[in-house]
Amino acid sequence: MKTALIIGSGIAGIASALRLRKKGYEVTVFEANDYVGGKLTTIEKEGYRWDAGPSLFTMPHLVDELFELYDIDPKTYFNYKRKDVLCNYFWEDTTTFSAVANQAEFVKQASETFETPTRAIEKYLDASKEKYDLTASIFLEKSLHKFSTYFSVETLTSLVQSYKLDTNTTLDSTNKKAFKNKHLVQLFNRYATYNGSSPYKTPGIMSMIPHLEMYYGTFFPEGGMISITESLYKLALDQGIIFRLSEGVQEIKRAGNKATQIITSQGTYDGDIIVSNMDIFSTYQHLLKEEKKPVKVLKQERSSSALIFYWGVNKEFPELDLHNIFFSDNYEEEFKQIFEEKSLSDDPTVYINITSKEEAADAPAGCENWFVMINAPGNFNQDWEALKTKARAAIIKKLNNMLKVDLESLITVEEVLDPITIERKTSSHRGSLYGAASNSKFAAFLRHPNFSSTMKNLYFCGGSVHPGGGIPLCLQSAKIVNDLIPDV
Ligand code: FAD
Repeated sequence: MKTALIIGSGIAGIASALRLRKKGYEVTVFEANDYVGGKLTTIEKEGYRWDAGPSLFTMPHLVDELFELYDIDPKTYFNYKRKDVLCNYFWEDTTTFSAVANQAEFVKQASETFETPTRAIEKYLDASKEKYDLTASIFLEKSLHKFSTYFSVETLTSLVQSYKLDTNTTLDSTNKKAFKNKHLVQLFNRYATYNGSSPYKTPGIMSMIPHLEMYYGTFFPEGGMISITESLYKLALDQGIIFRLSEGVQEIKRAGNKATQIITSQGTYDGDIIVSNMDIFSTYQHLLKEEKKPVKVLKQERSSSALIFYWGVNKEFPELDLHNIFFSDNYEEEFKQIFEEKSLSDDPTVYINITSKEEAADAPAGCENWFVMINAPGNFNQDWEALKTKARAAIIKKLNNMLKVDLESLITVEEVLDPITIERKTSSHRGSLYGAASNSKFAAFLRHPNFSSTMKNLYFCGGSVHPGGGIPLCLQSAKIVNDLIPDV
């Protein structure tokens, strides 16, 4: 039987393993950590459980597909429910807004809260849909690095209508053109952070994301986000995929123009196909030391990282939902500090995810499990201890003021994740959450392809290569890799 070796068990690594197994390969996954899942993991402490990384689940059908590949009803492994509320928003001037997923209802309520004509919001969301429909199949579902992608009806249709995509203007400018209300602009600007970019740099095409949330929905997996990893891992084991945990790969070897072997901390393995799910920068830096580097691609600006406090909070907050945002007063300054000064904002936008709202077992009775995250620059060897202390104080001050509490007295348990730890635990260059940033209109074309142009049989999947970061795109990368690899 032909063998496929996968480096890394992030979501894209597991998805690639499942797809190649279905193709008929004998598959082994090598994972440096003693657990699977990479960024999609969990933390447990003193009766609390938190999802450590991703908290927003969209496009669940891409996970379902992996079970359906084996003619298995996904529900026998994995269940989730659609959320009616997308996110609760809070501003310092006491404006609050609960964004609902139902588009007609969203338009009505946003129109009232933000004193904006319903027609303006409808027009924006219609344009959001059009952008998605024009580009999704080209940018998200195919390799951008194969000529065939450019000679399809979809691509030509999209090119003819490219003036509708707002690629020559920033997301902020697109939103300011659509709305006068500064809170509504800020609400839609926030979608830039879904791939770790700045709304003041990323192109207006990112305004397609609200459509994705409202049309396809946002979901909560039963048991939390970790059940995505756990259910796919179980499926993979049930299908005979071998996982070698705590066995980091050190080198990819070539013979002639083919990748043929990997060397790990424990041995040497031959493979007919090698797929790296390790961050592309780190793959070249550590596993392909002797190979010529695609310098321009690897130099691409990285997405933002994050600073996260996992707090056990000894009180329940009925005004909060699963996803909550407490906006900074000066959003532009916040992104300038992150991307240009490589520092943290003095008044950061705070995201709080509380899974105990959906899954009571995640916190003791009467308590909540807060995942409190602020956007952060990548790791450029800043003094993270000092930055963390300052950020913690700023977050607590902001939440005390906006929720009218003494938060410090309610925090009974604490864990922290910073960019250095993200980098160390996942090999993500600079601790970026989503690989390369989308801070330019060329970013999509500069992401590394899903295959090696110098070595046959070597492929790449995961958030640092095409089509980009986030669970849905990582799953798409595994699909693209699968399409590039011949059947056994
Ligand atoms: P990764 O998760 O990056 O895993 C790579 C794996 O490879 C790791 O397990 C690592 O140990 C292993 N590895 C590395 N080097 C080696 C080696 N040499 N040998 C063997 N194994 C190796 N996405 C969303 O969709 N929604 C969200 O709400 C969201 N929020 C996020 C919040 C945070 C805090 C973080 C960190 C990420 C978030 N993301 C979110 C992004 C999402 O988590 C990632 O895009 C996705 O999980 C990355 O998956 P991946 O397949 O690229 O692999």
